[in-house]
Amino acid sequence: MARKFFVGGNWKCNGTSEEVKKIVSILNDGKVASADVVDVVVSPPFVFLPLVKSSLRPEFHVAAQNCWVKKGGAYTGEISAEMLVNLDIPWVILGHSERRQLLSESNEASCLCAKRLYLSSNFFDIQYLLIHIFYFLGQFVGDKVAYALSKGLKVIACVGETLEQRESGATMDVVAAQTKAIAERISDWTNVVVAYEPVWAIGTGKVATPAQAQEVHSELRKWLQTNVSADVAASTRIIYGGSVSGANCKELAAQPDVDGFLVGGASLKPEFVDIINAAT
Ligand code: PGA
Repeated sequence: MARKFFVGGNWKCNGTSEEVKKIVSILNDGKVASADVVDVVVSPPFVFLPLVKSSLRPEFHVAAQNCWVKKGGAYTGEISAEMLVNLDIPWVILGHSERRQLLSESNEASCLCAKRLYLSSNFFDIQYLLIHIFYFLGQFVGDKVAYALSKGLKVIACVGETLEQRESGATMDVVAAQTKAIAERISDWTNVVVAYEPVWAIGTGKVATPAQAQEVHSELRKWLQTNVSADVAASTRIIYGGSVSGANCKELAAQPDVDGFLVGGASLKPEFVDIINAAT
């Protein structure tokens, strides 16, 4: 089954409105493969979503970098899936490793969180406490993916191991557990793109070799085949993220199970146009 190449640009917490306009104009002027061949989705910070959406070439789409796990209400600082839908933002990135690591988003809820709260040496640290309260409210990647999909958003769901996990031989266990937490909560994978992003490769300049990326992508596809269905395994795009650049994208894109990229740093530079064209 042919899977359309997919390139996402994760702008993270970067940019002023002037800088954002510059990136958009580079993208708008870039000579890129047709939308029949590649899906392009850029993800600016929340505050720039309307600006980017209204000025970006129409065949490119936008994604939010996160959304809340339930309907809006008294959740200061959060953005609900419903709000994204209301603004016609079609995509959202969920489970990015920076959110898993820095903001303690976990695969799933568990009373372990209560235990962590109880045992935490930072029990009285208000920020730490708030993060744990988020656990209780159900801010978990699997739930978030299910909720966002149920509201009509398309999801780029991120998975990936740390260096320590890779070195201890746990890569596939970690990636499978992260994918399982999502698979247990959804039945329709049509609007899901899985981004395999090894944490050690993100923002480090240490890109996975094409063989390393292919190995995990192919294992992940096998996992989907065994645990979800052959159709989902064949049709779901698995994209790679972590220090992708104009220089390394072609070789990675040539791997049979690498269906595109989620790009951080290089998505803020003109070379993003080359990455969009990597499969052509
Ligand atoms: P990077 O980030 O391309 O800067 O390594 C990728 C990502 O975090 O999605």
